[in-house]
Amino acid sequence: MVNCAPQWNGQFSCFDLVAKLGGEDPTVIRINDVEIGGGEFVVMAGPCAVESERQLLETAESVAAAGARVLRGGAFKPRSSPYSFQGLGIEGLKLLRKAREVTGLAIVTEAMDPEDVPLIAEYADIMQVGTRSMENYALLEALGRCDRPVLLKRGMTATLVELLQSAQIIAMNGNPDIILCERGIRTFETATRNTLDISAVPVLKSVSRLPVIVDPSHAAGVRCLVPILARASVAVDADGLLVEVHPSPNQALSDGIQSLNFRDFHEMMRNLEPYVELREKSREHQLLATKGAD
Ligand code: PEP
Ligand code: MN
Repeated sequence: MVNCAPQWNGQFSCFDLVAKLGGEDPTVIRINDVEIGGGEFVVMAGPCAVESERQLLETAESVAAAGARVLRGGAFKPRSSPYSFQGLGIEGLKLLRKAREVTGLAIVTEAMDPEDVPLIAEYADIMQVGTRSMENYALLEALGRCDRPVLLKRGMTATLVELLQSAQIIAMNGNPDIILCERGIRTFETATRNTLDISAVPVLKSVSRLPVIVDPSHAAGVRCLVPILARASVAVDADGLLVEVHPSPNQALSDGIQSLNFRDFHEMMRNLEPYVELREKSREHQLLATKGAD
């Protein structure tokens, strides 16, 4: 853990419900037997969009077998182009529920409209706010009033202060269970879809009490970079990952280019194991050092 630099404190301490001011315990989000922010490295994986029962159930079973704890899948999709697949809507939510029944995986799915929040909360264990919605204040307020944890993605042009501002809005409206997600930001670089701001993870973990996960899929935009960015995320002590996986990425209705197939996802998970073990050891070490210092 990086020690908090004084200039960060000055910027972030006003977000009193989500900032680390000293003394408070880190936020641990519990969904059945999954704990996010509690030490376990939690992998959330699944298709960008729910497309069909077969696609979703096959993916759910495969990612669960590889060690994922949460199934992702968009039913309501925010698409930059009006001609792109917009998601299955409520049919997609029903399929997500079925996948949870079959595999026991918790479900994370996106809400775009404040009016949809109560409906989506009936099906989802975690409510996702996409990068395009980080500044949709009516949505943030509605999520503050809902009793499900929120996965808040960083806006593609948002600073970390602005990300925590949005988190504070959710918390002020009554919901402190927020997971922050770094998913890459827009920069002048065009080789990758976005630029993964890896330093966002240690900064956010220093100034905020919230869990922080990384989405290497939307950051990279190409599948070959996903495993190595996942590894970097473990190394900077992120609390988990959000990864896109599809049975046949080349046939995917959205984000196929950045989606892993089952074989590559399993290989990524296997290759992450020694890094995750190292992360656990280093956390134990730190805990002992903190106790010794008290
Ligand atoms: C997604 O998770 O599929 C998604 C649309 O992500 P983002 O909002 O980060 O683009
Ligand atoms: Mn996607």
